[in-house]
Amino acid sequence: MTSRQNRQLHVIGHPLVQHKLTLMRRKDTSTTSFRALLSEVSMLLAYEVTRDMSVTMEEIETPLMSMSAPVLEGKKIVLISILRAGNGLLDGMLRILPSARVGHVGLYRNHETLAAVEYYFKVPSEMEDRDAIVLDPMLATGNSAVAAVERIKQVNPRSVKFVCLLAAPEGVATFHERHPDVAIYTAALDDRLNDKGYILPGLGDAGDRLFGTK
Ligand code: URA
Repeated sequence: MTSRQNRQLHVIGHPLVQHKLTLMRRKDTSTTSFRALLSEVSMLLAYEVTRDMSVTMEEIETPLMSMSAPVLEGKKIVLISILRAGNGLLDGMLRILPSARVGHVGLYRNHETLAAVEYYFKVPSEMEDRDAIVLDPMLATGNSAVAAVERIKQVNPRSVKFVCLLAAPEGVATFHERHPDVAIYTAALDDRLNDKGYILPGLGDAGDRLFGTK
């Protein structure tokens, strides 16, 4: 893990991201469209979250001459989906990062203790050589993101970043209180949470909209 403690929040204001997000927010948008749009947005978020990937120069031959050209230094990214809505960000990310490995974290909240309980955790081996990109579309209270990243840090990834579609200020604060070293990438920082923990104005329940389970 790097020891940066600077609470980075990257809001991706690109017009394509913002337009697609608006379509996703609309209550009349179908499950099919919502799923396709999330996949498209996740490709654009993948572009932003990998902006600082390092490259090395390699000698290659074009049809006309030789040149020194940049190539990605390693193929060490692991995308970690927080179940279940995180899966909606996976396929778009994998289209941009086809050689990335994939991990999954499943957590539920014990209603009595309010503690996050792990029911699934599977990540590739040798995490200390890998850069983890954690995926969950909605950073709402931040509690499950905090718990998931805490668990992921136990396997010592080289670095961790967090990608979501929407974030609430409360979630960002909670998350960075516990993980100031983990940069957040989001398409929008919304206004606030309601009393049920939904992001306002938001887009509703991302899992239900993605999987049609309402
Ligand atoms: N999870 C969701 O799916 N939507 C919210 O608004 C908050 C948490």
